[in-house]
Amino acid sequence: KLAKLGLRSDMDLILHLPLRYEDETKIVPIREACLRGGHVSQVEGVVIKNEIALKPRRQLLVTIADDSGELLLRFMNFYGSQIKQLSEGVRVRARTEIKHGFFGAEMVHPTYKVVNENAPLPTSLTPVYPSGEGLSQPILRRAIAEAMRRVDWTDTVPPLIRRQMDLIDFEPAVKMLHYPPVGADEYALMEKSHPAWTRMKFDELLAQQLSLKRAQRARRDKGAPHLRAMGHMTEGLLGALPFSLTNAQQRVLHEIRADLREGYPMQRLLQGDVGSGKTVVAALAAAQAIDSGYQAALMAPTEILAEQHFRKIAAWMEPLGVKVAWLTGSLKKKDKTAANEMVESGEARLVIGTHALIQDTVQFAKLGLVIVDEQHRFGVGQRLTLRNKGSDGLVPHQLMMSATPIPRTLAMTYYADLEVSVIDELPPGRSPIVTRAIDQNRRDEVIERVHAAALEGRQVYWVCPLIEESEALQLQTATETYETLAEALPDLQVGLVHGRMKPAEKQAVMDAFTAAEVHVLVATTVIEVGVDVPNASLMVIEHAERFGLSQLHQLRGRVGRGSAASVCLLLYQSPLGQVAKQRLLTMRETTDGFEIARKDLEIRGPGEFLGARQSGQAMLRFADLETDQWLVEHARDIAASLLEGEVPANIAIVDAHLARWLGGKEEFLKV
Ligand code: ADP
Ligand code: MG
Repeated sequence: KLAKLGLRSDMDLILHLPLRYEDETKIVPIREACLRGGHVSQVEGVVIKNEIALKPRRQLLVTIADDSGELLLRFMNFYGSQIKQLSEGVRVRARTEIKHGFFGAEMVHPTYKVVNENAPLPTSLTPVYPSGEGLSQPILRRAIAEAMRRVDWTDTVPPLIRRQMDLIDFEPAVKMLHYPPVGADEYALMEKSHPAWTRMKFDELLAQQLSLKRAQRARRDKGAPHLRAMGHMTEGLLGALPFSLTNAQQRVLHEIRADLREGYPMQRLLQGDVGSGKTVVAALAAAQAIDSGYQAALMAPTEILAEQHFRKIAAWMEPLGVKVAWLTGSLKKKDKTAANEMVESGEARLVIGTHALIQDTVQFAKLGLVIVDEQHRFGVGQRLTLRNKGSDGLVPHQLMMSATPIPRTLAMTYYADLEVSVIDELPPGRSPIVTRAIDQNRRDEVIERVHAAALEGRQVYWVCPLIEESEALQLQTATETYETLAEALPDLQVGLVHGRMKPAEKQAVMDAFTAAEVHVLVATTVIEVGVDVPNASLMVIEHAERFGLSQLHQLRGRVGRGSAASVCLLLYQSPLGQVAKQRLLTMRETTDGFEIARKDLEIRGPGEFLGARQSGQAMLRFADLETDQWLVEHARDIAASLLEGEVPANIAIVDAHLARWLGGKEEFLKV
């Protein structure tokens, strides 16, 4: 049962810190406790009456008395043994809130124990631990108290650093947290702002930074192909582009190119808001791999997105004589086999697809670069598999792309082993998107507006409400919306695309929309990522209050890609909840993805950004990325100085600290 809570070693137990405390250090006279009422009090008295009442239900009623008065203890659920245990004349210490019920002052289900007269009171607050099934507080308390006696208390943070950071020592910090003495600052303990907490948080963050930095070194020790050449493909591609790169694109490309030339695997995250032009950067990185005689693979989370990449990039590259393979789960067996053969023989220099790329059956001839679009949608395991598909013992370089910006603190703690490049500039000629929130009951006006826009030659996305509980229901809603819109707009072509359609059907609809044969595209969130139709300049999102901020931002990013002024209408169902109101307000106020991500972090906490990295999230139990940012920065710098130059004495410090804080859990951070 302890192991279920992750408590395997004595140190695990020591670091299992209380959630809160109970004050059992004082006894209040019964009369005073009753007068105070409403508060938790501890009283002590002798049982003067013990009876079982049958009405209104079976219950045990025990009356205790001290010199000042009497108090009823009421137990609705009780064991036979309790009747005996609490028989007349027994002295009881009971603790809970006092209520004023039908029979006067009473305690309902107090925690209690039978004591002798003058039994000593505890001198420290009693810890209440996070617990699991079948583990009572007394059992946990005993296990932890025993571990305290056995454990090695050596301080793993050297005195110099403790002094520099003004940290208290490990042992007193831990003991303070488990057994705060009477008079300790209970508020600071609860708020985790007490110096004892600071010490724990620092230790935890230091362990995390040390471990991440070691993983980074381990990566640097691995070999990767030197992708040095920039020739035919790179030049051809640059020449074929209908636009020139923005300064930001050039800068990130420069960073990526430098990494690719190194003999150890790149691990770089390319961040750029929706529409910032990450695809062309990815294609140019792939060109460098191809020019250097290697293959590149590009993996996208959805078939629609992968297909768009494929079409766009193949159109750029195939005229330059490069074969691009297409691999998804929905391919016919014959086509899949053909694609696999092209990849295996090396005939295909670039492979684009979905998860299908990481199947065991896919063997690369000479994989040099792996590109993962919308990386947060993939699990760590999936990215690793692709990384393991190198040849000759070399690890391919990895470029991850994301439009979901990772706030700085988060990047520092969870992605410390990741270089980050940011495209912070949109291509020129984009017009800003005007966003408005409109009550659902004005839907007719909105339809009117869609009609007018379409007559002006603009194209429209109509996004259906998200129904998380039921895909079937979501589908039904999408179909109904499609039908009502088709009926309301008889002179327009209305199309429908949703996740359950066959890929070929989806593609046919998307093609028609791209070709401007369809004016209004009714869609589920399948269009959330990556879809790129520059002529679409109006978006309606129904039940916008059901979507998360980053999702709304991604959706909205589908418009505003051309030169026409774009509009995003957020239809909502009133009344709006507090959080939904805040989200819609944020959407109206800004189109800056970073600002939106910051707000999102504020509203929801870090979980969302970590996505499949939950395993790593479990690593931080005590530190809070919002309030403890300053500690994160110190921990990072100190970790760097401890690892600097591989000083043997420092290595010993690092090993001891990691063993204490991570035990066997370090592998989580390796990816
Ligand atoms: P995202 O970063 O969201 O993946 P895309 O790569 O899909 O963005 O690019 C969005 C659109 O901008 C595409 O139509 C692309 O062709 C276009 N684009 C990219 N770079 C430039 C540029 N430097 N100048 C003009 N248009 C560009
Ligand atoms: Mg994209």
